[in-house]
Amino acid sequence: MKTVLVTGGAGFIGSNFIRYMLKKHDYSIINIDKLTYAGNLDNLNDIERDKRYEFIRGDICDRDVVDDVMRRVDSVVNFAAETHVDRSILDAGDFVKTDVYGVYRLLEAARVNDVERFVHISTDEVYGDAGDEPSREDSPLMPRSPYAASKAGGDRVAFSYWATYGVPVIITRCSNNMGPYQYPEKLIPLFVTNAIEGKSLPVYGTGRNTRDWIYVEDHCEAVDLTLHAPGECNGDVFNIGASAEKSVLQIAGLILEILGKGIELIEHVDDRLGHVKRHAVNTEKIRKTLDWKPKYDFREGIEKTVNWYVDNESWWRKIKDKQREYIDFMKKYYK
Ligand code: NAD
Repeated sequence: MKTVLVTGGAGFIGSNFIRYMLKKHDYSIINIDKLTYAGNLDNLNDIERDKRYEFIRGDICDRDVVDDVMRRVDSVVNFAAETHVDRSILDAGDFVKTDVYGVYRLLEAARVNDVERFVHISTDEVYGDAGDEPSREDSPLMPRSPYAASKAGGDRVAFSYWATYGVPVIITRCSNNMGPYQYPEKLIPLFVTNAIEGKSLPVYGTGRNTRDWIYVEDHCEAVDLTLHAPGECNGDVFNIGASAEKSVLQIAGLILEILGKGIELIEHVDDRLGHVKRHAVNTEKIRKTLDWKPKYDFREGIEKTVNWYVDNESWWRKIKDKQREYIDFMKKYYK
């Protein structure tokens, strides 16, 4: 049985990916996660007893942990990262460490142990503003936040391990994800849970900035395809997205409509520093090369997402009401 190392598997996308993989394949999965404020083992409650699943609490920057586990795996999918743009504006240190140095540690161990495939999860944030056309894989990287810049660094370190040493790396750059188990500091779960609580939805500036949205399960399927892509794809970058561009105001309006709440809950707050006006990706390459397309349209995805937070209040209440890191960050950032 093949063994796949998934890093950051206790986070939002990583936990959805592990669930997806165990359902789809007969593989063993080893999940290494540091359990930062964003890592949550509750996200994996339903699979923790699966004999094919193993959890190791560890840091991808820790050489001993990484070298040790890499001897036991056939391939790697690296989700582990510091991921919140707003936190990177307050303090970039952990972003540079995990999203650049941590990626290097994994790649170095993967090189020594000849892994069959290393999928590095980058992000569309590395392109910066999309301008008039959705970003293509060969568009310039112009990251605007410390988060995006750190991810761009990790993305290019990963590419260099293919170009220099022939490590079979594939890099994915996905657009904004929505779905279950997303930490409630991020836009959609923050808006949904605030609306349920009757609190305001903080919209930066005019709220006209747009993002391209995808349902998390579609992202997981695309990553699985890159993990199994033919050898000629090594060194390639694949954008992933569902061509669903929406402004923050549209998202807020839709969430309120689905929950039957009024638009008076929308509150405009100071714009985010370095705010990107438009993120959007061109996904022709993955559609053609790997025959992938998203299964969920935007409306279905957002309805499934909103309903999940409605049905799983105890999951997010534990974080919003009790987790010190959440409460302190919200106070500090939104004053
Ligand atoms: P998340 O913040 O929910 O999860 C990140 C996980 O990584 C957490 O479980 C955390 O504990 C773990 N982690 C952090 N630092 C670590 C370290 N040093 N060692 C081991 N584990 C560590 O993030 P997410 O939204 O699930 O994003 C996963 C990946 O997908 C990230 O690489 C992110 O850049 C990328 N991505 C996310 C989106 C999105 O919309 N969420 C879009 C495109 C790309």
